[in-house]
Amino acid sequence: MKKLNIYVTQPFLPPLEEFIPYLQKIWDSHILTNGGPFHQELEQKLCEYLGVKYISLFSNGTLALVTALQALRITGEVITTPYSFVATTHALWWNNIKPVFVDIEPDTFNIDPEKIESAITPQTTAILPIHVYGNPCNVQKIKKIADAYGLKVIYDACHTFGVTIKGNSVLNFGDLSVMSFHATKVYNTFEGGAIVCHDEATKKRIDNLKNFGFVNETTVVTPGINAKMNEVQAAMGLLQLKYIDALIGKRKQITEQYRNLLKNIEGINFMEDIPDVKHCYSYFPIFINKNKYGKTRDEVYEGIKCKNIYGRRYFYPLISQLPTYMGLDSAHPGKMPIAERVTEQVICLPLYPDLDLLIINQICNILKKS
Ligand SMILES: *Cc1c(COP(=O)(O)O)cnc(C)c1O
Repeated sequence: MKKLNIYVTQPFLPPLEEFIPYLQKIWDSHILTNGGPFHQELEQKLCEYLGVKYISLFSNGTLALVTALQALRITGEVITTPYSFVATTHALWWNNIKPVFVDIEPDTFNIDPEKIESAITPQTTAILPIHVYGNPCNVQKIKKIADAYGLKVIYDACHTFGVTIKGNSVLNFGDLSVMSFHATKVYNTFEGGAIVCHDEATKKRIDNLKNFGFVNETTVVTPGINAKMNEVQAAMGLLQLKYIDALIGKRKQITEQYRNLLKNIEGINFMEDIPDVKHCYSYFPIFINKNKYGKTRDEVYEGIKCKNIYGRRYFYPLISQLPTYMGLDSAHPGKMPIAERVTEQVICLPLYPDLDLLIINQICNILKKS
């Protein structure tokens, strides 16, 4: 028998028969996109579920990031970290903004607030941190610095869904937060994304920007892009919302299983839950200390791969190590020692709601014997 491939993630698909009635409505109405009824309903339902005031749906997270920067008219230099998915920094590049990289914290892998101030120059207009693996950034310290220097804060919240700090959504911090609903994420609309904002005027500007700049049939106020979510995506989002609590519950169970089985292995580290935070368990990264474990991260990665188990090295390489960005002053090797170490240690293990607990045992047994 051919061995099953186990990937780092697998999208959750609700029963097909539950999706058909949504498609029937779309076929009946002939409304396929342009802010149709499912789009409107999903914006409202997501505001309620996430506990936020305003949300604008997008065709994907990357266009939402690009548009978020335009919505706040960000220019010049923006402070960010290299420990993220490439789209975070690419969004700056698409806006002709210079990325300035700073190092991350060793325990949360988020931007280190202590390193932000020394990276600020007269050209700095904003901070673009990411809630890595869904762990909230130190939002209070970041706000203090942003307020002191008159900087905007846009969070890349693409790893979060339903994450709260003391019951308050992490999306309520910063000027804007950007989400992704890509197939590989905790909550998916095939492809999709969103911007969360806190006032109606900003929501209007974002909605104009994602629809070519149109405010009505004949008036175009700004050179906007086409980044609208269509009705099939929005219908998928509405159906997924019915399952999301159960899905996050399963992710938590899987995460706890991994933690139990890996806790006594010398040289393998992993994250614990943070007090007062409701997590969404979007990834299960482990960090290999090669001196203590006796093998490098890449040896471990290849070792499980030959058993048809595909981890992913999120995030390796660092964004600052890519040809496009490595020439920047802030990207110089040695300038971000924590990120440079972590990127050589990390593997994200398979984590998705349907993942069999027996497979987790198997993965952990391989890691034990290595
Ligand atoms: C997935 C992701 C994005 C991009 O979102 P898409 O919907 O795939 O365009 C951006 N930033 C981070 C951190 C992500 O994980």
